[in-house]
Amino acid sequence: MIGIMGGTFDPVHYGHLRPALEVAEALSLKEVRFIPAKTPALKNQPQTAVTDRFQMVSLAIADQPLFVLDDREVHREGYSYTVDTLRSLAEEFPKESICFLLGVDAFEQFKKWKDWQEILTITHLVVSHRPNYFLNRSHWNASFFVESAEDLHRHKAGKILPIEVTQLDISSTFIRQQAMLNKSLSYLLPETVEGYIREKQLYTRL
Ligand code: ATP
Ligand code: MG
Repeated sequence: MIGIMGGTFDPVHYGHLRPALEVAEALSLKEVRFIPAKTPALKNQPQTAVTDRFQMVSLAIADQPLFVLDDREVHREGYSYTVDTLRSLAEEFPKESICFLLGVDAFEQFKKWKDWQEILTITHLVVSHRPNYFLNRSHWNASFFVESAEDLHRHKAGKILPIEVTQLDISSTFIRQQAMLNKSLSYLLPETVEGYIREKQLYTRL
């Protein structure tokens, strides 16, 4: 089973990295593929070019062999729909079961995603808890949910596993604000990423 970590990563931070690692270990994933979105359809457009965001993820995951960087959304024009990404992953890894990692905040929006029903024919969802957000199951039939890694592994796709991870109240929004105020970003994201932000003078204005 492989994991997919989508996001804008504007910039990537420990609230992405630590939960992804904990999920990878809890589910014995072969790898987690980080896929920076070029043009998200449902949120404000990123402040920085996809090439910078891609570069920052590359620096952030360089020392972690379980993490792989994937550029398939970087080169795709138009909105970066997850369903297109998953179709292409399913083609590339026909024998693998795929699980898509997301935080509770993103899961709340999931039924607005393009072709969400099709997404669930290709992948599982693994929903990480995130500070200040609560998992709401009321819009879902209970049969979607499984409660353990073992249960998830019994199915090829279409199940939702909520998972407890170390709670890190870090967001890219907060980091962008701190950078704009010229405050330190230490301990929020890897030093190499902070170095890149300083060098390229990213996030110096709103
Ligand atoms: P922004 O503030 O710009 O929205 P973000 O910090 O929410 O950025 P995203 O790139 O939007 O980061 O998130 C990508 C994925 O990572 C989403 O599924 C999101 O729920 C998850 N995620 C982000 N931060 C955390 C966190 N601190 N804990 C758990 N999950 C997180
Ligand atoms: Mg977000």
